[in-house]
Amino acid sequence: MIRLGAGRRLDRIVAVGAHCDDIAIGAGGTLLTMCLARPGIRVDALVLSGGGGEREQEEQAALAAFCPGAELHLTVLKLPDGRMPAHWEEAKAAVEELRMRTDPDLVLAPRTEDAHQDHRGLAKLMTTAFRDHLVLAYEIVKWDGDLGRPSAYQPLTPEIAEQKVRLLQEHYPSQRHRPWYDREAFLGLARIRGIECHARYAEAFAATKITLNLGG
Ligand SMILES: [Zn+2]
Repeated sequence: MIRLGAGRRLDRIVAVGAHCDDIAIGAGGTLLTMCLARPGIRVDALVLSGGGGEREQEEQAALAAFCPGAELHLTVLKLPDGRMPAHWEEAKAAVEELRMRTDPDLVLAPRTEDAHQDHRGLAKLMTTAFRDHLVLAYEIVKWDGDLGRPSAYQPLTPEIAEQKVRLLQEHYPSQRHRPWYDREAFLGLARIRGIECHARYAEAFAATKITLNLGG
């Protein structure tokens, strides 16, 4: 297996989530890996719900920790959790505003096959607004059992995998009561994705379209 790199340029990334903690759960290890390797990288993050309260504070602190040394711009909106279809226009406007603000080398977003309608809705908005970009769609384990067969893997060192789990536990106290929100779930999925790509741990993504440059 060849490991495709980012080429000469990976200066700007966009990360979006429907809820606070989605980005960190789905791609926290990948963010840590990229930001540690590229000090000063710009990260534009958009979260659709949780703005104005305790959850926004958690998200601000968490993403700052998941993006060490990065130039982080985070916007947390106040769309009601679980009712995104009724607020489609607001979400669409926010995604379009994000697109106007930056031209990223990589986009991290939810999967269009995600069973949660908020995740799925945002995923569809993203692929419409970011039409000529590499979009890696992260996965979030849940009751619905919607995990699929990923097409792209970012191996994680054991240190990064442990750091991800530690930061998730530390920065989202509001989520600790959830039965699936624990070390075993996060590290277990990372271990399985690691097996699938010949690494100890990994995060996995769905990539709908990848353009190659094999001629160099
Ligand atoms: Zn979510």
